Amino acid sequence: VSLIVQKFGGTSVDGPARIQAVAEHVVRTRRAGHDVVVVVSAMGKATDELIRLAHELSPLPPAREMDMLVTAGERIAMSLLCIAIDELGITAASFTGSQAGILTDSAHGRAKILEVRADRLREGLAAGQIVVVAGFQGMSLDRNITTLGRGGSDTTAVALAAALGADACEIYTDVAGVFSADPRVVPTARLLTVVSYEEMLEMAATGGRVLALRSVEFARNHNVALHVRSSFSWEPGTWVRKESAMEQAIISAVTHDTSEAKVTILSVPDRPGIAARLFRALADEGVNVDMIVQNISVGGTTDISFTMPMADLPTGLKATEAVGAEMGASGVTHDADIARISLVGAGMKTHPGIAARMFETLADSGVNIEMISTSSIRISCVVRADRVEDGVRALHSVFDLDTEPEAEPVP
Ligand code: ADP
Ligand code: ASP
Ligand code: MG
Repeated sequence: VSLIVQKFGGTSVDGPARIQAVAEHVVRTRRAGHDVVVVVSAMGKATDELIRLAHELSPLPPAREMDMLVTAGERIAMSLLCIAIDELGITAASFTGSQAGILTDSAHGRAKILEVRADRLREGLAAGQIVVVAGFQGMSLDRNITTLGRGGSDTTAVALAAALGADACEIYTDVAGVFSADPRVVPTARLLTVVSYEEMLEMAATGGRVLALRSVEFARNHNVALHVRSSFSWEPGTWVRKESAMEQAIISAVTHDTSEAKVTILSVPDRPGIAARLFRALADEGVNVDMIVQNISVGGTTDISFTMPMADLPTGLKATEAVGAEMGASGVTHDADIARISLVGAGMKTHPGIAARMFETLADSGVNIEMISTSSIRISCVVRADRVEDGVRALHSVFDLDTEPEAEPVP
């Protein structure tokens, strides 16, 4: 018997008809002789709706209560799915993250999985049940309910696949797999058949939200092969796994992200320890700083600009202003209308000229570059948010990623 973990995202369980379709698919897998562990997200936009409700009561709700609140979404989906499976004549049992033995640290809203004690799930499987687990949640060592960050059901699926030694980890979603760009922005994006962990990590970190970043890190660290595919067509999709150098494309994807903001601290003294002081303060507040640019100093002072998730902006600004006042900076400004465009591809390591071609393409499209950062397999540019989609489409075409318009139907 093989063990398969199947994860279904929000759109895939949005309403009774969709839940029934998922139940049928899961039961078909079970009847084909496999053990099945299912991970579900909250239905549709349920998580967003719960967060919105909380913000009607408080601009900054307590993190512990936010986690307790949003985990309710997955509870609803998992029990409804079990009811639907039961109706098809197979027993299923649902488990919250804590029941499933997912132990995390206590960082509410972005908890890390420390350990999975899956005995309860193993017992369910041994009893012939289909086991359904609420995604995105766990329990901290001090027994608080935690969540794993937005999109965290992917991480739950990968962690369970690793802990149970599953033969496959299937991520069912509302697109056919991982594409060379967000198919909602680039209709001619192509479906990738294989993506390496390294490329998928860069994609997930730069806006390719089809997989949560943590889930890809976990998959790479535990060597779990992922199969990302559509819950509408059930056609084979994209494998995310170790890839051999032979298969490396020069450019695999163009990603974009509009969820970051830029902060600039003006005229700080250009001497050792300034950057250390600033970024220590931000780190202590749990702000995830991404790109950093320091200008050439003029008259002994310099400007430092950096990007961070929009959600961290209030905290990040406060910390930056405090440090700025202490260091005698002339001010702190911020800009939420930025976006990042990234080019990802393992082959760029061995092909010179990719950066030049990227900058030329953006220039030809009239897209101004405000910041640049690179890794060995990625180049990112910060641009104006209202220019980002034009930039993505131009790069996608110049780097020969477009398919024939009619080839890939996109939902
Ligand atoms: P789920 O609810 O199933 O977890 P998500 O909304 O988290 O689904 O992720 C799927 C979405 O990711 C797609 O609808 C698509 O718009 C978006 N997306 C962004 N970039 C990509 C990409 N490169 N390939 C596929 N989908 C992408
Ligand atoms: N429901 C959670 C979210 O919307 C987790 C997930 O969908 O993976 O972020
Ligand atoms: Mg998701």
